[in-house]
Amino acid sequence: MGPSDILIASYSRRTLLGYWLGPVLIILSHLGCLLLLVTGLSLGALAWALGLYLIRMLATTAIYHRLLTHRSYDTSPTLLRLGCVVGASAGQMGPSWWKAHHLAHHRGSDAAADVHSPFQPHGGLRGFLWSQGGWLLSSQFLPEALPADVEADPVLRAIDRFHFVPPLLLALLSYQIGGLAYLGAFCLSTTVLFHGVQTVNSLSHIFGSQPFRTADNSRNNPLVAVLTLGEGWHNPHHAFQHSARHGFSFQGNRLVRLVDPTFGFIRLLEVLGLAWNVKLPSDRQLHLRRRSRDASGLGVGPGEAASGASAQGALPG
Ligand SMILES: [Zn+2]
Ligand SMILES: [Zn+2]
Repeated sequence: MGPSDILIASYSRRTLLGYWLGPVLIILSHLGCLLLLVTGLSLGALAWALGLYLIRMLATTAIYHRLLTHRSYDTSPTLLRLGCVVGASAGQMGPSWWKAHHLAHHRGSDAAADVHSPFQPHGGLRGFLWSQGGWLLSSQFLPEALPADVEADPVLRAIDRFHFVPPLLLALLSYQIGGLAYLGAFCLSTTVLFHGVQTVNSLSHIFGSQPFRTADNSRNNPLVAVLTLGEGWHNPHHAFQHSARHGFSFQGNRLVRLVDPTFGFIRLLEVLGLAWNVKLPSDRQLHLRRRSRDASGLGVGPGEAASGASAQGALPG
């Protein structure tokens, strides 16, 4: 746990019930996809599923991850709270739970403290399945500590404890709009969204290039970058955790900026006056952190990458 986290000796029964509803809803959303076998998938329902995917993925990446967790830019409390409601509607838990687990991942990536590493406690296919969501069905699901800053905000705390309300309301809205066909489309969107987000934990620590030195197996994976609107550029993120842009790499000696739709969204917020203090590493910082040779392809385990520098970001927090 971090210095400002609140250690949780035991959760109240109500919090436990609310938290455990998360995996239950995700399992139900998998089962709900079967509705489409009966109703089929119309163009309208497909557009509904795609729209919900994009908006909720963006809330997960731009709000939950880059704003709430890493503070890579500033915005108003209202936008943060609204973004967290949309983030919770993805069905992947609330802001305290999400930030707690993600910070734990960064504190010990691919080491013993990392609850969703594809390399420990299992490797191979079992490790992949563990990092792709299996860990959510284990005792590791409950964070040891919750972030004090999120817990201090009564609205964010309420969103965290009642995280299951936004996805249930969205399911109801889907049904109201288009009956079982749209409910099935909502389930499809939610299920693909769940697996899309989990690929950052799994594929982006197994397959891809490592242009920057980090003490873990984080990698740049283009497939994950497409699925997650830029989060697949995961190696620069581990090297520069406070950077609002993740899409960096090298072509030869040349620093290149990769397509990063989440960063584009943050820039749009900035242009609209809704985001400020957007943090980015300088070109010099990026060059200094460059790995001496580009490692690419299949990861072999945390030891392979552990020869790099510290995993901590080089930017001020
Ligand atoms: Zn992160
Ligand atoms: Zn990672």
